[in-house]
Amino acid sequence: MALYQLLLGLLLSVPAQALAWVPAFDQCLDRLRTRALSEGITAATFDTHVRPVQADESVLALLDAQPEFTTPIWDYLAGLVDQERVDDGREMLRRHADTLAQVEAEYGVDPETVVAVWGVESDFGNTFGKRSLLTSLTTLSCRGRRQSFFRGELLDALRIVQSGDVAADRLVGSWAGAFGHTQFMPSTYRRIAVDFDGDGRRDLVGSIPDALASTANYLERSGWRSGEPWGFEVRLPEDLGTRVSGRTSRRPLSYWQQHGITRVDGGQIDLPASTPTALLLPAGREGPAFLVFKNFDAIYSYNAAESYALAIAHLSDRLRGQGGFATEWPTADPGLSRQDRRELQMLLLARGHDIGQVDGIIGAASRAAIKQEKQRLGITPADGRAGRRVLEELRADVGGAHAESRTTH
Ligand code: CA
Repeated sequence: MALYQLLLGLLLSVPAQALAWVPAFDQCLDRLRTRALSEGITAATFDTHVRPVQADESVLALLDAQPEFTTPIWDYLAGLVDQERVDDGREMLRRHADTLAQVEAEYGVDPETVVAVWGVESDFGNTFGKRSLLTSLTTLSCRGRRQSFFRGELLDALRIVQSGDVAADRLVGSWAGAFGHTQFMPSTYRRIAVDFDGDGRRDLVGSIPDALASTANYLERSGWRSGEPWGFEVRLPEDLGTRVSGRTSRRPLSYWQQHGITRVDGGQIDLPASTPTALLLPAGREGPAFLVFKNFDAIYSYNAAESYALAIAHLSDRLRGQGGFATEWPTADPGLSRQDRRELQMLLLARGHDIGQVDGIIGAASRAAIKQEKQRLGITPADGRAGRRVLEELRADVGGAHAESRTTH
């Protein structure tokens, strides 16, 4: 067993790959060029934007990265739907009211939903990602384990450049190729992007009207039903089992109502009794419960994660003036807003941890520092998670230290 693992390790080791890799990358570019030219990409476009690319090892590391731990849903939502994002979203609703009204008239998707997607995808255009799309996609087209998928995305990215929709130097985004206000992949861009401001270009990097309309177009094509709610937070009767829950386990609305499920706010659900409806229990039956309808699935299709869809759905409710969930998450150590995360980082800096910039993003350095502080403070588990308990204990600790220094001077 050990010998087998050793041999496997040698086979997979980096030096062996590196020896064969440089010419292989060039050969791959040759094959890509042939395919690109056969699919309408000009030699000039390919030779300008792909030929000079050097493989970016850091992208491959991200492709294979396994998350260190699964983010609890309460952490995920605390960061994505915080007061800051609600306030910013309301400002965007005001600032782009005319465009959003036109978008709703054209696609049937309400302003709050469109703005909620925008806020979760790119923080209203503040976070596009920083990587050159063409470098990432070229690297992933020739190396790693999903080359065929990324080749298609690379060709679509080249089509975007060649059409003049977006200049190559403005194609920056996440390592995997999502970019712009809507964080579309290039293939989604090709199918869905629209020119809404009428300048002749579908520009989801530089044009907010194009981006908002393209988001609504995506939702409409995913089956959005105009005027219908995404769902509601509900109260479960004690005797209802959790086996009936799950987004794909749809039953008529009347089924759930017959089993005694009601909205937490006591309101009616004004939909036909036959409406396909699913029960979501993101944290089991002790946490908030939701009945969701067709529009939840439309949001889900944007990124294929229930936690993600719930963040957008909840943010859209908050933008409509509703409060947080009525039922608390089943945890004694709730998640942190971005402002709380920045405060936690400042407290870590004050304790002498070299965590870099205070940006509200809990990266590896912040996690290592949190772990040390939890060990020092006796918080269990002493992991790197940024939660309310370590924030409050560090606040008290720093306050105490200040009080001590005041009495001694
Ligand atoms: Ca345009």
